Amino acid sequence: MSDAYDTIVRNGLVVGQTGARVQDVAITDGRIAALLPPDAAAPAAAEIDASGLVVTPGGIDTHTHVRWPHDGIHTTDDFLSATRAAVLGGTTTIVDFVPPGDGDLLNRCRNRVDEAAAAAVVDFGFHPILTSADEATLKAIGAVIADGFTSFKMYTTYEDRRVDDGAAWYLMKAIAADGGLPGFHAENHELLKSVLEHEVQEGHLGVEHYPRSRPGLAEAESIQMIALYAKRIGTPAYIFHISGSEALDAVQAARAAGVQIFAETCTHYLTLDDSCFRRPDAWKYVISPPLRGASDREDLWAGVTQEAIVSVGSDHCAYLRDAKNVPSDDHRAIPAGAPGIEARTPLLFAGCVDRGLGYDAFVAVSSSRAAKVLGLPHKGVIAPGYDADLVLWDPDAEWHADLAVKASSNTFSLYDRMTTRGRPKHVLLRGTAAVRDGEFVGRAGTGRFIARRPRGEVGSSR
Ligand SMILES: [Zn+2]
Repeated sequence: MSDAYDTIVRNGLVVGQTGARVQDVAITDGRIAALLPPDAAAPAAAEIDASGLVVTPGGIDTHTHVRWPHDGIHTTDDFLSATRAAVLGGTTTIVDFVPPGDGDLLNRCRNRVDEAAAAAVVDFGFHPILTSADEATLKAIGAVIADGFTSFKMYTTYEDRRVDDGAAWYLMKAIAADGGLPGFHAENHELLKSVLEHEVQEGHLGVEHYPRSRPGLAEAESIQMIALYAKRIGTPAYIFHISGSEALDAVQAARAAGVQIFAETCTHYLTLDDSCFRRPDAWKYVISPPLRGASDREDLWAGVTQEAIVSVGSDHCAYLRDAKNVPSDDHRAIPAGAPGIEARTPLLFAGCVDRGLGYDAFVAVSSSRAAKVLGLPHKGVIAPGYDADLVLWDPDAEWHADLAVKASSNTFSLYDRMTTRGRPKHVLLRGTAAVRDGEFVGRAGTGRFIARRPRGEVGSSR
């Protein structure tokens, strides 16, 4: 007689679609086959004891830059070391980027998939970055979406890659026409340019002045413009990494006016604030947009509970310590970005528990809303038919300081001084153990490309 199920996860507190209750999760062929009463009399080839553990969907990190090109080299990690750190933190899917570049867009997208597929230990998708509304790009968008790259990123600032308002308009129209989701790094370029010139004149270039060079007003103005275009086109739009109250207010106003603006924030905006720029190691915290004040941080948490914020990304970008800690008293010399792919889910877990928001809120911001909005099929929900990407949390164990990120390469962590409660004990990727008792047990190349679905087909099971 063959076993009924491949694996059964027994007696965990399962955070499902209708709240948390103690259940068994039965898995077959990498998918959730059934949710059963605890200690169900169901035979399975393997059993995992989840007594006392909290079972959530695997985390979805909506914003990573793995092996990212900068200054003719790459950031220090690769798809193996980065995704190993991700899964140790309880993330089982990342949505990374196709970097800007020359040549056929669809080919560049497919090459990025090959690069990840050879090494990744979590599932992955990509947001292609678009830097021009030229004819070749506009024509390629339909095929790129059909291949499963359904959300895009455009920068409204940075001289080397920004799109101007006209290009943004035509790119948004082309993406919307094929059912894709336009996304933006949203900061008003002209305003940033003038503010920076002013700061230079004032001699305000030390790291402690960094946040003044990129005010929240620049984010808010840009979000308003995108919302206006989105409304006129009749498309939703995604705003990457909103940093504080001014950006959030602009998102809320657009949503109140009936525009589907989906906001992402990042781990660091929810856990740190601009007091970091007065620390001796302030160089670490140069991130764009900057960390804002403590009240911004609390406003963002309120946004999480009000659903204005659909996802929390790590914005993981693992510069070498030496590349980031440049001996300079000019913040412009420091590349913006920091690693954080491991820290994301433990910090969100602890943040939701500490604020009394509960496990449902944690699941919403760490995976389920992102799965819906970004069109990830079979992810982000514990229910029959979905992928068996499961994190079994020990809610009392301490998580400490991004160890996997630091161990993988000579980088640094923003969270060195932090210890939080709640740590992934076991992690399953499509039913197979990737982390057991806090140790990585996965295998390079087991992560799969997830072809994402166009708008209108999201949120459905298989
Ligand atoms: Zn980024």
